[in-house]
Amino acid sequence: MDLERRLKRQIALEGPITVAAYMTACLHDPDDGYYAARPRLGAEGDFITAPLISQMFGELIGLWAGEMWDRMGRPPAVRLVELGPGDGTLMRDALRALNHVPGFAAAADLWLVEPSAPLRALQAAQLAGVDARWAGRLDEVPGSAPLLLIANEVLDCLPARQFVRTETGWAERRVGLDADDELTFGLAPVPGGFELPAFAKTAPTGAVLELSAAQTALAADIGQRVAEDGGAALLIDYGRDRPAFGDTLQALRNHTKVSPLATPGQADLTVHADFPSFAAAAAQAGAETTPIVSQSAFLRTLGIDLRAEALTTAAKARGRLDQAERIARQHARLMEPDQMGTLFKAIAIHQKGLDVAGF
Ligand code: SAH
Repeated sequence: MDLERRLKRQIALEGPITVAAYMTACLHDPDDGYYAARPRLGAEGDFITAPLISQMFGELIGLWAGEMWDRMGRPPAVRLVELGPGDGTLMRDALRALNHVPGFAAAADLWLVEPSAPLRALQAAQLAGVDARWAGRLDEVPGSAPLLLIANEVLDCLPARQFVRTETGWAERRVGLDADDELTFGLAPVPGGFELPAFAKTAPTGAVLELSAAQTALAADIGQRVAEDGGAALLIDYGRDRPAFGDTLQALRNHTKVSPLATPGQADLTVHADFPSFAAAAAQAGAETTPIVSQSAFLRTLGIDLRAEALTTAAKARGRLDQAERIARQHARLMEPDQMGTLFKAIAIHQKGLDVAGF
């Protein structure tokens, strides 16, 4: 039975489910979830990400990791971890840059945290010849060595619950069935004992509040690790840099927004990263956090403008004006405020006292 029919049957039997439970089923159902069954990244797929737009992205993140290893005092062993490596392009580009950092390769123990079997296969192909190990969850990666973690567009696929401010108070948005037995959004009472954050008090009627326990649990995990073992974690995603209301649940199929309820498991389903809650949970766990900065500010500090210029000059010198133009287009896509430059944000969680590059 396909996922849609199974969800409908479950809802008919047990009642409407939370948006978080719906997201988890759509993304990770073992038989029919998007990432378990049919993730399609890239220009020909459902959605595109920064490392697939330009090799400069992964290279700069590689340089960031090398620089952080240096600032940590070049520990002889470090766990280099990527969460949600997609098709492996980011890590491939990062390792190319890291090869120029003497001593790093000998120190690094590379782990890819990836729940999706088809994506693991793509990563293995992309990183053929590289000594890497895979884990399904971060807590399967051993500790006791400093952590250097990178994650691009992973927070946005961690599930969130949604709450709606009505005339009479808060209610939880759930996925239920309408009169024709089609999936539909509805409202249910907020479960007893469930506490909404203080800023929710200011919400106007109609406001939607998203809370992702999975995002904050990940922040606490990473925070505890870097507090205990040392290190730094870099997370880049589209999301908010201050507490805000809004329904950001979005489904993408063939680069087109579709209704999140239309085709369960067939589309990528995301919510905005909640960076303020993420930072607070990491700090609570004993780590320090950087300010939340825009992707363009972060990449600019790491030197993307110079890198693009050098690549453009080299392309022109070879008479390849087409390549020079392509690099300019890629740079604009990553950096311009009306493209990825402002909506996407970066934050790092780090051991106390470490000065993090790029912020
Ligand atoms: N970082 C890549 C891919 C982003 S797509 C890029 O920038 O191109 C999201 C990635 O996160 C996929 O690899 C997906 O399988 C993975 N993912 C989804 N849920 C996850 C979870 N709970 N823990 C770790 N990775 C997850």
